[in-house]
Amino acid sequence: MEIIKQAPLRAMAVTPHPDDCEGGCGGTLSKWIQESGTAGVVVLCTNGDKGTGDREMEPAELAAIREREQQEAADVMGANDVVFLSHPDGGLEDSMLFRSQLVREIRRHKPDVILCIDPYRSISHTHRDHRMSGQVAIDAAFTYAWNPQHFPDQITQEGLEPHMVKEAYLWGSETPDVFVDITDFLDTKAESLSRHASQMSADPVARAKRIRSWAAETGEKAGLTHAEGFRRIQFNLESVIMRT
Ligand SMILES: [Zn+2]
Repeated sequence: MEIIKQAPLRAMAVTPHPDDCEGGCGGTLSKWIQESGTAGVVVLCTNGDKGTGDREMEPAELAAIREREQQEAADVMGANDVVFLSHPDGGLEDSMLFRSQLVREIRRHKPDVILCIDPYRSISHTHRDHRMSGQVAIDAAFTYAWNPQHFPDQITQEGLEPHMVKEAYLWGSETPDVFVDITDFLDTKAESLSRHASQMSADPVARAKRIRSWAAETGEKAGLTHAEGFRRIQFNLESVIMRT
């Protein structure tokens, strides 16, 4: 167990749907960006067009609303870019296309840390898009982005360079082992979540209370008042590549 106090220079959150990253790492990302000047980017994998029980809602209309909400939420966190991959909600696959898209964003934005959902859970089940986005993000970082032999057109035709991501922070993990104190950023997290108005209950006070008690519960594991917890993967790519 470790409490993370140092912010990375560059971080990229890979979120399957609008609102997942604010719920999972919104406090941490806001803190890194606003306190330490981390360059933060959000990659939104799907357009969230199935995120309603309203039979009258047109998926295209919902997608437009949710992409706008995601931009606003990212602005609250202070992210300097939001990338919309616009896969259909429920349609993420572990495909070459999706992998190449995440590799491209890693090569463009050169994050030291990627934040994504832990795709490996054994006790609780999660949305298929959550598993796919977490899995493909980790694979993009470890196996593909650093190696010029993968997706070489991005290098020869798009002018990108291979990039080594140092670490992945996985939110929603059953076994978090690193924690970030988000006490001063609870309000920012709540505010960023409230920008996803189409997905949220109308009561912002109850929502803020829920966020506070969830963060307190997580913080308890690390002796912090309020925290977000992650399972960390340190890729150690330099030493891995030297051996191959
Ligand atoms: Zn989701």
